[in-house]
Amino acid sequence: MKIQDLENQFTSGLYTKRPIAFVRGVGAHLWDSDENEYIDCVGGQGAGNLGHANPAVVAAITQQAQTLISCPEMFYNDKRAELEQKLISIAPKSIKRVYLCNSGTEAVEACLKFARVATKRKEFVATMRGFHGRSIGALSATWEKKYREPYEPLWPGFKHIAYNDIEALDAAVTEQTAGVILEVVQGEGGVRPGSAEYLQAAQKICRERGAMFIADEVQTGFGRTGKMFASEHYGLEPDLMSLAKSIAGGVPMGAALIGERVGQLPSQVHGSTFGGNPLAAAASLAAIGYLEENKLPQRSLELGAWFKSELMKIESPLIREVRGLGLMVGIELKQKVTPYLQALMAKGVLALPAGLTVMRFLPPLVIEKDDLAKVVSVVADVLAKPIEEKRGAGEE
Ligand SMILES: *Cc1c(COP(=O)(O)O)cnc(C)c1O
Repeated sequence: MKIQDLENQFTSGLYTKRPIAFVRGVGAHLWDSDENEYIDCVGGQGAGNLGHANPAVVAAITQQAQTLISCPEMFYNDKRAELEQKLISIAPKSIKRVYLCNSGTEAVEACLKFARVATKRKEFVATMRGFHGRSIGALSATWEKKYREPYEPLWPGFKHIAYNDIEALDAAVTEQTAGVILEVVQGEGGVRPGSAEYLQAAQKICRERGAMFIADEVQTGFGRTGKMFASEHYGLEPDLMSLAKSIAGGVPMGAALIGERVGQLPSQVHGSTFGGNPLAAAASLAAIGYLEENKLPQRSLELGAWFKSELMKIESPLIREVRGLGLMVGIELKQKVTPYLQALMAKGVLALPAGLTVMRFLPPLVIEKDDLAKVVSVVADVLAKPIEEKRGAGEE
């Protein structure tokens, strides 16, 4: 039976799928089951910063699989210890400790729980268009109605305020606020960078009022925006930071980084069976080592600036705005994006939506400039004129 038929028969049905099946990848290239080649600007929805079949990650996983795959946190482990030290060494100065988990929503969930424990407060301030994951705590911080509504009531005490609005933030944070959670660049919400003034004000307001400043860097971390972490662009020192996606070169892993203002967490208030897994830890160490040795954050900064400027040169009646930071780039259209993503795919370029109208590019940071140039020309081609929308075409 065809791959697609099998999945259609047995999978949850939660996802709007594109009709192709990928079976192989190298760097920024993917091949489908019919051997068609694509340039990958979906980048594992942000988990693919290191590129497909990254040799360092492959070698580390292979070796660790032959050594020790499983070791819960009730014991110590060499790879985990080494990774924790590494994460602290690359994180902002405020960060002192690490909680390891397995996904972005878990990392956010941990940050929210730690903020509650540290402050003994229960309320949070989050942002409109913010995305933080799908478990109930993280979902309470997420803005999008279609993700929230089926599960209401969510955690009480969450306020959503306009992003990049200092006055709204100032008014929202009180003596009851456990934490302010925001993305340094909003990803799913449309590739919207935070302004330096806003982000710095958010940190300052949290410090003054005894709330935790929580930076969700699940998507912006590990070189995506042109620094190891987007917080570095603005000298931010978060009290809590959620990480996942590219943390382990595509292997499932997440982390909540814990700042000094959080203080000592009481034992047993949180935990995870797979957290600190040696296989994921080995993959993460290799991924971070590769990012550093190959200066991929710098590469992301330079290639991203070039890519964005090339996209800005495209003359199209469909484009409202091009924005982004490093190799996290979005084109806001004046129309729904789905038919244009399908047209890109038909020409061998994979890109993501971010909301209804934004075309989002998250290529592996190892992508060659020639490939990005090809992406620019295909995008120019696809956006040259409006596509008549087919009725009932699904949104992702
Ligand atoms: C993807 C994402 C998450 C959720 O990560 P999952 O691994 O899908 O649970 C949380 N926050 C941000 C900013 C993200 O981009």
